[in-house]
Amino acid sequence: MTLNFDPRAKATALYHGEFRPMFVGGKWVPAQSGQEMQALNPATGEVLATVPRGSAADIDAAVDAARAAFEGPWSKFSPYERQCVLLRIADLFETHWEELSVSDTLDMGLPITRTLANRRRVIGMLRFYAGMATALHGESIDNSIPGEIVSFTRREPVGVVGAIIPWNAPTAASIWKIAPALATGCTIVLKPSEDASLTPLLIARLMQEAGVPDGVVNVVTGTGTEAGARLAEHPDVNKIVFTGSTLTGQAIARAGVTNLKRVSLELGGKSPIIVCRDADIDKAVPVAAMAVFVHSGQICIAGSRLFVAREIHDEFVRRVAEFAGRLRIGHGIEAETEIGPLINARQAGKVVGYIKAGRDEGAELMAGGSRLTGGPYDGGNFIAPTVFGAVSDKMTIAREEIFGPVISAMPFDTLDEAVARANATPYGLAAGIFTSHLGTAHKLARRIKAGSVWVNMYHAIDPAVPFGGMKMSGYGREGGIEHLHEYLETKSIWIQT
Ligand code: NAD
Repeated sequence: MTLNFDPRAKATALYHGEFRPMFVGGKWVPAQSGQEMQALNPATGEVLATVPRGSAADIDAAVDAARAAFEGPWSKFSPYERQCVLLRIADLFETHWEELSVSDTLDMGLPITRTLANRRRVIGMLRFYAGMATALHGESIDNSIPGEIVSFTRREPVGVVGAIIPWNAPTAASIWKIAPALATGCTIVLKPSEDASLTPLLIARLMQEAGVPDGVVNVVTGTGTEAGARLAEHPDVNKIVFTGSTLTGQAIARAGVTNLKRVSLELGGKSPIIVCRDADIDKAVPVAAMAVFVHSGQICIAGSRLFVAREIHDEFVRRVAEFAGRLRIGHGIEAETEIGPLINARQAGKVVGYIKAGRDEGAELMAGGSRLTGGPYDGGNFIAPTVFGAVSDKMTIAREEIFGPVISAMPFDTLDEAVARANATPYGLAAGIFTSHLGTAHKLARRIKAGSVWVNMYHAIDPAVPFGGMKMSGYGREGGIEHLHEYLETKSIWIQT
């Protein structure tokens, strides 16, 4: 793909191993302890910058700042003024989109063509929630109590929001938390992943430039067990919105019990894709393959269990394996790269372990299967897109979230069987169906237990459409109007006239 700018030049201008402070109460500060962490480029292993290793004391300061802003200047902003702030942020994002995209690519490896393509998902979210800021309303209710009593509801902001996000989409994940918070009149403390802190700090700079009052948006960098855990249990945080693994989500839900804070959780998945025998194979092969390989499998919605009707199974899986073999793997900053690195050596080692488990348990390796080293891969965490055939439901690779570029393909004989096996997982985040029969699409979509079901497509996410999980994939929805309600309290007011 040809870009109209040079991503390498922008990358060189962006980070040079320097210290990047965090953003608390409108000030750029180091950690109170003075500790720092390195931000590494997953494609090369080089140090991009260092950032503060914030701890409980830094979270406490940020929550205090967020509380003061919530009670103070931010509470005086009318919905229209909050809308204007969000629209100014959106305009700044347009101006700085190349810089944000390059930063995301350096921070977590996703190829530049894909970070650039997230524009609508991110800026659209800012504009969508800007629009909603002036559309919030309560209801007038005709109660059944005799007499002249008026009752109605008001929507009020929940208060200080703590947002904890993973590393695989720093810009989108930050904005999907910040935009609804600002639209509803909440303030927010954002704790990015220790593996991708740089873009959230750039975002904080744009918030400041857009005129967001001090303390309304705070970004505290640090680890999950120190900064994250404190934010989750903090007694003055009213709501936690979390995206990450199911295990951490459970810890966060437990921590929230201290002050009964509201919690919404976007967690892991082991999403099924069902390819019916009447599917358009030419169209389904690349979509099903990229349902996993995009971002090297490091997406919560990865369609990693591929159920294919037995009549077409062998041909379909062979073609998915051929597709995997043709993908261009490399540093995400190159415009022609299709698949970037995994986030760090630990994650790459974990994926290699899963690939070994697949082999040991008898699955047939049809593509990939190894870590890539030498030449352009030196210092990076690259794994070849991997396809396993002859997988059974009981195998480790068919049950556990791998968060790497690994497809487990399996044949099925009847649609009832496919649905039962697709649903036989603790997760319920997403699913894909490929069929050319409209009735089959509707029947299957209704029966699959997942928060999002895509038919003859995958991956689509839009600010106006709710996204979230069932079962162990979490609760709460992001996107759409109902997302806003998670940042709002409903107050009932009664007046004796
Ligand atoms: P993770 O759970 O390890 O970390 C996510 C965030 O939680 C990080 O900021 C981390 O510092 C913090 N954290 C860790 N321990 C904590 C604790 N005890 N208390 C508070 N915070 C803590 O997840 P990850 O490895 O960064 O991301 C991968 C996981 O995220 C996968 O399971 C993936 O499916 C999931 N994910 C889900 C979605 C979704 O929308 N459903 C999107 C992206 C990723």
